[in-house]
Amino acid sequence: MTLTSPGPTLGVVGGGQLGRMMGEAAAPLGVEVVVSDPTPDCPASPVVRDQVVGDFDDPGTVRTLADRADYLTFEIELADPDALERAGEEAGVPVHPAPETLRIIQDKYVQKERLGEAGVPVPDYRAVDSAANLRRALDDLGYPAMLKAREGGYDGRGNVPVESPGDVEDAFAAIVGAAPGATPDDPAGAAMVEEFVDFERELAVIGCQGTDARDTFPVTETIHEAEILRETVSPARTDEAVLERAEAVARDVLDVMEGRGVYGIELFETPDCDVLLNEIAPRPHNSGHWTIEGCHTSQFEQHVRGVTGLPLGSTERRFPTATANILGDVADRQPARLHGERAVLETAAAHLHWYGKREVYDLRKMGHVTLTGADAGPGSVLSRARDLKSGLTFRAER
Ligand code: ADP
Repeated sequence: MTLTSPGPTLGVVGGGQLGRMMGEAAAPLGVEVVVSDPTPDCPASPVVRDQVVGDFDDPGTVRTLADRADYLTFEIELADPDALERAGEEAGVPVHPAPETLRIIQDKYVQKERLGEAGVPVPDYRAVDSAANLRRALDDLGYPAMLKAREGGYDGRGNVPVESPGDVEDAFAAIVGAAPGATPDDPAGAAMVEEFVDFERELAVIGCQGTDARDTFPVTETIHEAEILRETVSPARTDEAVLERAEAVARDVLDVMEGRGVYGIELFETPDCDVLLNEIAPRPHNSGHWTIEGCHTSQFEQHVRGVTGLPLGSTERRFPTATANILGDVADRQPARLHGERAVLETAAAHLHWYGKREVYDLRKMGHVTLTGADAGPGSVLSRARDLKSGLTFRAER
């Protein structure tokens, strides 16, 4: 391999925090990044070469991005697989992961069908397109259950728990209201319902696919509250057999995925020490942010390496590492002003990651804190990361 300057350019659909951290990771490799995002001055823009302003699914925007790039990828599932496929073909630029993989993943029901067929263990589920249909499915699956919009959900938006038969009508109406393109008259394809998994803990694995190598990062324990990821810790505090099972399931998932790059694979550990797949993100994932400091290669660097056809880096963990997300804690949308960050900056082995979002609102992902512990266990790094994060608040300027 020869290094040239400027090196290859990676076009990324989406310029949120994932695009920003991809840009930070690409620079030392000599890979330039151009992102497309509808918000001018998006979080990625200060750290990348350039931004094309336009919607994630606008064919013209994706084509402009392709014309400026040697490789195309995406950091958001709202990217349009058809636009990516066409722009890639017309501009002669490879797209990774494959648009077909994005197509499958965008629909949670199709995703589960494909993975189930391939032998990946998934919770029991049904497609439902009416309240009556949902009621019949629940006679089978039992209560409680989780009703999910098939497309467009994130951070739990698009999920509605159904506790009892009395909840069925309201839950279905809420999902149809949230599903893109679905209307009460035509809810077809809007929803799926899944057995409620009484999980012991949630786990995640970042899987990576290179030109001819495949690897997985060490298993991460993820802690959600109200369906939003709050904290991660690796190693996960579970049995060796469960870790091995999680890794094996992740490898089976990678068999189904087409195209290079990293995949965030979210899993449930069941009370009988089995592992079920929750869902996949065909991109770097919040559960892998700890790899920036915690592993020899970060998930972002690995994604850039994978997509551009460079050799994959080592996924070995360097230290037990925890992260805590900095979420918006203000009711009204307002300029973002974080307070209390000095304590994080003054702590050895603590790292602040600020995503550069101009406005904050309740539960918006604004940044994260990472804590590594060369001589500490996972429980201790997690509680220290949690303490540091609890000193951070957003306050309106008077
Ligand atoms: P999103 O795509 O919005 O992130 P997920 O489907 O991954 O939504 O669900 C978010 C969280 O909701 C999961 O991490 C888990 O905590 C909870 N959850 C989702 N599905 C189930 C289920 N079948 N049983 C129990 N909890 C679930």
